[in-house]
Amino acid sequence: MSAFDLTPLLDLLPELLAGRPLVVLTGAGVSAESGLPTFRGPGGMWEGNRPEDLASPEAFARDPETVWRFYAWRLEKVRAARPNEGHLALARMERLLPRMTVVTQNVDGLHAAAGSRNILELHGTLLTARCTGCDRGVPAPEGPVPPLPRCAACGALLRPDVVWFGEALSPVTWKAAADAAEACAVFFVVGTSSVVAPASSLALLAARAGAYVFEINPEETPLAPLAAGVFRAGAAEVLPAIAAELVRRIP
Ligand code: NAD
Ligand code: ZN
Repeated sequence: MSAFDLTPLLDLLPELLAGRPLVVLTGAGVSAESGLPTFRGPGGMWEGNRPEDLASPEAFARDPETVWRFYAWRLEKVRAARPNEGHLALARMERLLPRMTVVTQNVDGLHAAAGSRNILELHGTLLTARCTGCDRGVPAPEGPVPPLPRCAACGALLRPDVVWFGEALSPVTWKAAADAAEACAVFFVVGTSSVVAPASSLALLAARAGAYVFEINPEETPLAPLAAGVFRAGAAEVLPAIAAELVRRIP
């Protein structure tokens, strides 16, 4: 007997197949089953530091080597990780649905690796680095840190190409995400604790604009009261079940 019941969603699936838009917001939880720790769950600490204390412009200005070692460690895990059944189900759904957007807070590249195409990476990516001098984007360093990676063009320090606490999201990416949220018929929130703004406000935008919001998360989050349905199980279990229901309804 399964712990979740898709009933509240089922009547909406034909509408999605007919072209009404779906937006899926994902967070660290969707990659948990690929072996990548979430920030707020077990295994989220690094050398006794909270990620929040390392993922900031202040931390980088103070101690770039510690920050880069943290990112090099995460990158090593990401390069070894494979998309799980949750990522793969989302890619399958995108091939079935005329209009679907994945908006992710993750920086691990696993949605693209699974085959999703229409992806908005709100918080950037670990797979590239950016020059603090000339802003050029380059592939993330392959080797260990130290030595600190530097720009081949201008010699300035490279930084991870992610959005840190206290930094603004790319306005272009954010606008695309907000527009998609306001235009969608159904909005899934998958594996995010919904505490990091402004990403957490996307579900609110969607709900206010009339979308049905569904949450996929084994734990309770502040979003639940807003949701038309809550599926309390892991993403790698729920998303394939939804994809299978879509396939059954292909006209
Ligand atoms: P979070 O760590 O705050 O919350 C993770 C959420 O996932 C929790 O609510 C938890 O209950 C849920 N969860 C755990 N296992 C799950 C599963 N199998 N299926 C579905 N849900 C599951 O993560 P967040 O809300 O994404 O915010 C943290 C920030 O940290 C984000 O901005 C993100 O950029 C960054 N981050 C990214 C990665 C990554 O790219 N893989 C990993 C850690 C943190
Ligand atoms: Zn440079």
